[in-house]
Amino acid sequence: MSSVSLENVSKRFQGADLAVDDVSLIVNDREFLVLVGPSGCGKSTTLRLIAGLERCTSGTIRIGDRVVNDVIPKDRNIAMVFQNYALYPHMSVYNNLSFGLRLRFGGGIVNRGIRRLLKPGQAAELSKLRSGIDQQVRQTAERLGIDHLLNRKPHQLSGGERQRVALGRAIVRDPAAFLFDEPLSNLDAKLRQKMRVELKRLHQEMQATMIYVTHDQVEAMTLGDRVAVMNGGKILQIDTPLAIYDRPANLFVAQFIGSVPINLQSGVLKNNGATVRFQNDWLNMELESKFGPKAGADTRSVVLGFRAEDVRLGEGFRAPIRGTVTAIDRLGDMTHVHVSLTDEPRARMFDAPENKDNDNLNIAPRATGMLVARTSSNDPVETGQTVALTIDPERILWFDADSGKNISKD
Ligand code: ATP
Repeated sequence: MSSVSLENVSKRFQGADLAVDDVSLIVNDREFLVLVGPSGCGKSTTLRLIAGLERCTSGTIRIGDRVVNDVIPKDRNIAMVFQNYALYPHMSVYNNLSFGLRLRFGGGIVNRGIRRLLKPGQAAELSKLRSGIDQQVRQTAERLGIDHLLNRKPHQLSGGERQRVALGRAIVRDPAAFLFDEPLSNLDAKLRQKMRVELKRLHQEMQATMIYVTHDQVEAMTLGDRVAVMNGGKILQIDTPLAIYDRPANLFVAQFIGSVPINLQSGVLKNNGATVRFQNDWLNMELESKFGPKAGADTRSVVLGFRAEDVRLGEGFRAPIRGTVTAIDRLGDMTHVHVSLTDEPRARMFDAPENKDNDNLNIAPRATGMLVARTSSNDPVETGQTVALTIDPERILWFDADSGKNISKD
């Protein structure tokens, strides 16, 4: 396996804005890196540049130590798995798996002519490699649990089985690195989850370098050793999933990552020396300075952020914030409680957790007196109830209201 690196790589399609804008990243040997971001952010183009399916406008791409800018796709020794499987419909599963190897090792009618031009030593070497194809195909099929399907054609397979064949076709080639372009998007939610676990197991077993593109942040968080969050052709943050969740670099990343949107409150922060005070129309909180943001002006516009699991909810303890429960989502293993901090109960804070495909995630959110708290599944909380709330001060994040940058202390 090999590392893959991009150095100041940009791609501009004719007559369009930059699709990939000065991207630099190193995918370490045997690492699983996920590129995640909303539709149109440039993640597929980045992957296609690595595969050689697009030429970069500027920058350097390396696979291992070799600069591959001018190397054609088939000589990059990279395997790519697509969302639409891209199987040969007229071939059996066996032939789909073996086709690439047969071509490479001089099988087939066309290659038979070429073989005649080889020196005897080369021809013998290729012949040895060809005789190993059958074993490679059967081992790969067994590894993916599709060995009983080898005689079927793609149209006789379920979506999950087809995706396994597509995976198998990549694995059997033993490439320097695997590239995945949303390979699980055509599968239903349950199968997607199952395939995620299998992919993770495969990665561990094969110790392979894998680069995986998705717009699904859950997939990114569960699969990646590291995750690169992209928007507008740029990488905004690249780090481990937990570091990105806990310490997002800016408002965009904070809002994009997390299956329940992060709670955000725009307001003014005043530094009073030993304490800081955050205020907006609904919140008036005093915190010890150690929980405040990095040093800055004594009074400044900020966005306060905290996750649903960092809000404690309930009567019976001294809590500085009070609100009215407007909606409750009982999910079985946990409950999300939507709380209005204003007197008039409002609509719930968000419609759907997945509703994140917009470009405005890096600007300060419109002021709203709503927040979401996560409680246990058997919390007896009811709609209309007045509740007391505390926010864990250690988990509070601060963002600059103008730039969207995270200004929390490290
Ligand atoms: P999605 O998740 O929707 O596939 P993406 O993040 O993978 O999105 P890309 O496919 O990389 O995004 O596209 C990035 C930008 O480049 C988009 O604005 C897209 O319209 C543009 N683009 C992609 N391919 C081409 C092309 N062949 N010609 C012109 N513009 C293109």
